Amino acid sequence: KQFKDYKLSGEIVRALSGLGYEAPTDVQSKVLPLALEKKDLVVRSQTGSGKTASFGIPLCEMVEWEENKPQALILTPTRELAVQVKEDITNIGRYKRIKAAAVYGKSPFHRQKLELKQKNHIVVGTPGRVLDHIEKGTFPLDKLAYLVIDEADEMLNMGFIDQVEAIIQELPSDRVTLTFSATLPEDVEALCHKYMKQPVHIEI
Ligand code: AMP
Repeated sequence: KQFKDYKLSGEIVRALSGLGYEAPTDVQSKVLPLALEKKDLVVRSQTGSGKTASFGIPLCEMVEWEENKPQALILTPTRELAVQVKEDITNIGRYKRIKAAAVYGKSPFHRQKLELKQKNHIVVGTPGRVLDHIEKGTFPLDKLAYLVIDEADEMLNMGFIDQVEAIIQELPSDRVTLTFSATLPEDVEALCHKYMKQPVHIEI
């Protein structure tokens, strides 16, 4: 099965083709149909499996272009990953003109504040700085419909649990949540149990 055989718009399939992606990887073929049905998912998969596109493709497909406020938030453990994920999203969403912003620490708050004021469909960020923007009122959350917790085990290992929980508590409860993690230690399981709605578990 190729990307053109999934329920994806022509703009997305064309962008994937331009990236040299014709057929989904294992994780993508499992995640894509369920994500497009707006199911909560806990996905156990490693970096290098194509996991970024496994959430990037459905997010780019599902966000509404006309809406100016952020509809999706992707939390990553590091700045480097946030920047990489933003680039991947921009590439996948190229022909749909998807706008993505990245917010992370050790970088001027003010510039990110201005970026968040622009039209953005998807925001990628590290927990501390995302929470900072939420608390200062510079990150509108009322249209937030999708949350991705990427590398959840890494994020909790780095001590971000309190920030992640504080962020989740500010989000609309009728959102979709997708969690990706290489391993599923107890603290990740507990977080999923507490904040996700009957998640489907996917193992790669
Ligand atoms: P990731 O696991 O998200 O870090 O992706 C690993 C690598 O696989 C990246 O270089 C992607 O560009 C590439 N990739 C992701 N999905 C596909 C696909 N369906 N076909 C070919 N390459 C892909």
